[in-house]
Amino acid sequence: MPVLIVGAGLSGLTAARVLQAAGVPVRVLEARARVGGRTWALPALAAEQGEGGLLDLGATWGWSHHPYLMQLLDELGIQPFVQPSAGATAYQTLQGVHRLPHPAGSAGYLRFAGGAATLCRTLAGQLPGDCLEVNTRVTQLRQLPPGQGVALQARQGNSTRTYHAAAVVLALPPRLVAHTMAFEPALPPALEEALRQVPTWMSHAMKSVVVYAEPFWRPLGWSGYAVSQTGPLTEIHDASPGRGDFGALFGFFAAAHPLRAASRPARQAAVLTQLTQLFGPQVSTPLAYHEWDWARDPLTSVPGDEQPPASVLLQGPGLLRQAAWAGCLHWAGAETSASEWGRLDGAVESGRRAAAQVLRQVTARA
Ligand SMILES: Cc1cc2nc3c(=O)[nH]c(=O)nc-3n(C[C@H](O)[C@H](O)[C@H](O)COP(=O)(O)OP(=O)(O)OC[C@H]3O[C@@H](n4cnc5c(N)ncnc54)[C@H](O)[C@@H]3O)c2cc1C
Repeated sequence: MPVLIVGAGLSGLTAARVLQAAGVPVRVLEARARVGGRTWALPALAAEQGEGGLLDLGATWGWSHHPYLMQLLDELGIQPFVQPSAGATAYQTLQGVHRLPHPAGSAGYLRFAGGAATLCRTLAGQLPGDCLEVNTRVTQLRQLPPGQGVALQARQGNSTRTYHAAAVVLALPPRLVAHTMAFEPALPPALEEALRQVPTWMSHAMKSVVVYAEPFWRPLGWSGYAVSQTGPLTEIHDASPGRGDFGALFGFFAAAHPLRAASRPARQAAVLTQLTQLFGPQVSTPLAYHEWDWARDPLTSVPGDEQPPASVLLQGPGLLRQAAWAGCLHWAGAETSASEWGRLDGAVESGRRAAAQVLRQVTARA
């Protein structure tokens, strides 16, 4: 029987990589039609415009002090580039736009050609073709008698499929597990509580990305970094590719802003008006506009996730780093990590830790 990994985000694919390398048969079940989870990059331009490079609508940055991420980049041969940041900061208040000589808030952050989603695309590309099943949403887990592992039920379109696994790694936001999966027997109350309590990092976030023929703000002396007290975008960064023939800006929408429930054209118009106020009239002629609201994405967020967490956790609950169901049920996901909670680094750490736990279980039974 294989080990089943639920979720083909960075944590699940990392766990799959480690187990596969150790000779353990794995299967990854992913509800979306794509891998990557909260890392997701789209072509900057439409096919007839030549597509351009890929732009992140989910995670963007890594940091050189994030050890698990840096090790993975090394292993995958991915060279990050440094976030473009030279120039002035734009600071927007009710009184207007102030030009500040402060360095960009994202100065020194690391980016990835093809977006952060390239990590997952590369990991998935290195797994044997038949071990990844997309469009497969796990709904139920049942603990079988000792030695028989776990039975899972999953939806594939209109049909339901049952899988049997020696062990399962749940590699998705804990709160999503609590809200969308049934367990038989029910999980112990403390574990259920831990799953419900831990917030999902950036589940409240919405990104807008605007593409231009060139990064026109640079010759004007702006870094592309802006902070706004007025919105609708509260924080804006240069999202242009490291090498490429177009420019891009991305911004985070204010959490629970009324425009998030408005039509896309209304939001796009408000974003372009704000960018014009910040950087000048060129912004009114973009080549493309993209957006994604993660709070409305049911494979990331649950109702109530529209608000950011009151504080950023230092680490996930300890209970979510221990196996349940006599060592057959393991937790991964950035929200279970012991450091760099919620970040890409935490996702990699959690995937490695869950895989190590599974390997200990497999060795103990051999
Ligand atoms: C807008 C945004 C910006 C961010 N910026 C950064 C950043 O700059 N730097 C950084 O370090 N981190 C950032 N993050 C966080 C980073 O994206 C996450 O830490 C990381 O991607 C989490 O990976 P994961 O595998 O733990 O979870 P996820 O990426 O959420 O993967 C979980 C997977 O499980 C799948 N799934 C869900 N339910 C089921 C089911 N029932 N059955 C099967 N599959 C299921 C989902 O479709 C998904 O693919 C950002 C996140 C967002 C949303």
